Amino acid sequence: MNFKFARTELIKDLSKKGIKDPRVLEALYQTPRHEFVDVTFTSRAYQDMSLPIGFQQTISQPYVVAKMTEILIQGNVLEEKPLGAVLEIGTGCGYQTAVISRFCRKIFSLERIKALSLRAEKNLKKIGITNYQLRWSDGTLGWPTPKKFDAILCTAAISQIPLKLKTQLELGGKLICPVGDAKKQHLLLLEKKSKHEFTETVLDSVLFVPMLKDKVSE
Ligand code: SAH
Repeated sequence: MNFKFARTELIKDLSKKGIKDPRVLEALYQTPRHEFVDVTFTSRAYQDMSLPIGFQQTISQPYVVAKMTEILIQGNVLEEKPLGAVLEIGTGCGYQTAVISRFCRKIFSLERIKALSLRAEKNLKKIGITNYQLRWSDGTLGWPTPKKFDAILCTAAISQIPLKLKTQLELGGKLICPVGDAKKQHLLLLEKKSKHEFTETVLDSVLFVPMLKDKVSE
């Protein structure tokens, strides 16, 4: 399979679907999604769809990864004001971690399933990414040691954004999370205006796997 050609086609598709930021399109072009999926799905790695990664979880749809990235970096001219620390809840196989790593000093990512966290570590190493830190932990409890983040993204859906995540967001930071139940969800963007004040923007309808509590060692 010609992966470069497949990636070019994917970028054209994303662009048609409304992804405008050239930095985001370039990041998805540069990220070898086929390295993140099981060999059974290699031929579909560059189709704009989520795919199974085992443990009843999925690798996110490229459009959704692009959209979330676009929102997080909006207003950040990369060369002048790059994002510092970014927190991701739901590492999965590490695909979105890889995309976001291109736009921040360091990406921190939490995953509740140990085997996936280990797999993500392997995938990220394989493609040469170094500015990340992964932890096997329940993301609803936030990063396990005290820390503030310039941006937080959740890649699993929840009915209400955990307070701990709001607390770990820097002033002026953005938090993006799919909110809803198994049938109906939308992306919610929170912007932290002061310690207890957030503006809320409801964005696209989406469909993510649910965020679950407690870490598991399967
Ligand atoms: N970011 C991934 C998406 C993976 S799907 C990608 O780029 O494809 C969502 C992931 O969230 C799953 O791996 C799931 O195990 C994880 N997850 C669900 N609830 C969680 C929680 N409370 N803490 C950490 N990870 C969680």
